[in-house]
Amino acid sequence: MALIVHKYGGTSMGSTERIRNVARRVAKWVRAGHRLVVVPSAMSGETNRLLGLAKELAPEAATAASQRELDAIAATGEQVSVGLLALALQAQGVGAVSYAGWQVPIATDASYTKARISHIDDRRVRADLAAGKVVIITGFQGIDPDGNVTTLGRGGSDTSAVAVAAAMKADECLIYTDVDGVYTTDPRIVPEARRLHSISFEEMLEMASLGSKVLQIRSVEFAGKYRVPMRVLSSFTPWDIPIEEEARSGTLITFEEDEKMEQAIVSGIAFNRDEAKITVMGVPDKPGIAYQILGPVAEANIDVDVIIQNVSHDGRTDFSFTVHRNDYVRTVELLKSSVLPATGAAQVLGDPKICKVSIVGIGMRSHVGVASKMFRTLSEEGINIQMITTSEIKTSVVIDEKYMELAVRALHKAFDLDQNGAAV
Ligand code: ASP
Ligand code: MG
Repeated sequence: MALIVHKYGGTSMGSTERIRNVARRVAKWVRAGHRLVVVPSAMSGETNRLLGLAKELAPEAATAASQRELDAIAATGEQVSVGLLALALQAQGVGAVSYAGWQVPIATDASYTKARISHIDDRRVRADLAAGKVVIITGFQGIDPDGNVTTLGRGGSDTSAVAVAAAMKADECLIYTDVDGVYTTDPRIVPEARRLHSISFEEMLEMASLGSKVLQIRSVEFAGKYRVPMRVLSSFTPWDIPIEEEARSGTLITFEEDEKMEQAIVSGIAFNRDEAKITVMGVPDKPGIAYQILGPVAEANIDVDVIIQNVSHDGRTDFSFTVHRNDYVRTVELLKSSVLPATGAAQVLGDPKICKVSIVGIGMRSHVGVASKMFRTLSEEGINIQMITTSEIKTSVVIDEKYMELAVRALHKAFDLDQNGAAV
């Protein structure tokens, strides 16, 4: 008998019929003798709908007071889900009780729309489990120290589920979603993409931060910190498939680098098309200049990703970095109005149509020539690399957006990730 946390995404909860199927699947696990905590998302499209309503009334909603209300509104989607799922389980003859984040409570900090979980009180949940009930807890939401409802950022239900699993010391956290696992890359771009049977936690962390949308990155950070065994699997298999089969399906996120994984030098190709590049030309090359450029950008709450500073010529250098495409115009304006006059730099240039393509694999630690193979592959396709950044287990390049799909396909093939390529 194990303690298992199930997380169901919006698509899995998308209609009353689908919720009934979730209930049947959960009931199957309960009947096999397991104790279950279930963390569902809002019904698909619901969070967008709610935030859309808010936007009609307050297009900016930039003040703390308005962000508080955004969270109060967005959190209702999950509240409906937990109640519906509890009813569906009761209708299957399974005892079930639903809780909103504040009822557990799931304590968070006070940063509305992107709150971080600080503590979960598991007493109420344990008492219900001991009484034989399935406990259903809202994803995505919590409560701050002053009793305000907070949300954890888009996709935050993954993080709720892993945090609950960590707090409860659950045996496993199963993330049921609309894909059947983690793939070598997005199958919509590369039809030959393969599902990975397992992926190391560190690789998953890179994939999530580099644009793979399967899991919210904070959920992976949480899983790593508390070593929560975690599996991504499909909620669209027939609900009555044998439990043993279901429990082995999908992709396991592992903490051990087993032999099998070491064979694959590159495990996946990630990409992110939402980036924009900005270059400040002719910056006087003296101490403090990077801070003078990026300080105001950080103060404006704009996230900076890849950063490059060139060698200087005649005391001047070029300084380039990337930001999210949504922040492009704002960043260029900020640089032109305040940074140019303050630093004496020559001009600001930019390109909002770039993308970042990355290869990820723990095998890169112990193999040489991986990055050069990436560069050779791109050059054979005639793709110009604009920026490069590396870490121990990834290499990313910034390229023109129009070559993104070509680059991903070529790299997927070059690193033997295609379905007919070498086995993982
Ligand atoms: N319902 C929230 C969203 O759409 C949280 C989640 O689904 O994970 O972002
Ligand atoms: Mg999600």
